[in-house]
Amino acid sequence: VALDRLDRALGLIASIPDYPEPGVVFRDLTPLFADADAFVATVDALIEPFQGRFDAVAGLEARGFLLAGAIAVRAGSGLVPIRKQGKLPRATESQSYELEYGSATIEAHRGDLDPGCRVLLVDDVLATGGTLGAAVRVADRLEWDVVGAAVVLELDALGGRDVVGGIAPALDIRSL
Ligand code: AMP
Repeated sequence: VALDRLDRALGLIASIPDYPEPGVVFRDLTPLFADADAFVATVDALIEPFQGRFDAVAGLEARGFLLAGAIAVRAGSGLVPIRKQGKLPRATESQSYELEYGSATIEAHRGDLDPGCRVLLVDDVLATGGTLGAAVRVADRLEWDVVGAAVVLELDALGGRDVVGGIAPALDIRSL
């Protein structure tokens, strides 16, 4: 993907101070999704480092779903959702993780992908790393071969890369 094209796409991301609570700067990707060329450039850039190396993409609820759907069609891969607890109707593997206040649980279906399936994890934003770290644990229990994680934005100051690295030191995490 040409850098100027990707730069324009990333430039469409809006930053909203104090949303959803004071002190948080929310990164809103909806203007990027709304722009056809920006969306394609972003999706292609997420695929690029992993091209030809994954059989399925796992999208993290909820904005990861939008990216994962486009990646799957563009790359010719399968897709699985990693969802918040209670949304998937069949047997799942799940993992809880700590939030600033309380905790959350995410899960994926057993049996949608075979053990050894090469999987790319995808989300819009890597913040504290709690979500991606939990996704890696779910993937391990399902015996997926995780080839890497692709996110649009990585908020360096929150240290998410180190948190995920503590769980999966060899995981190839790419952010645009
Ligand atoms: P974390 O588990 O802290 O890495 O947070 C990752 C999840 O929360 C991702 O699915 C993001 O969509 C969302 N998220 C966390 N922080 C932000 C932020 N500042 N702006 C937008 N989304 C965020």
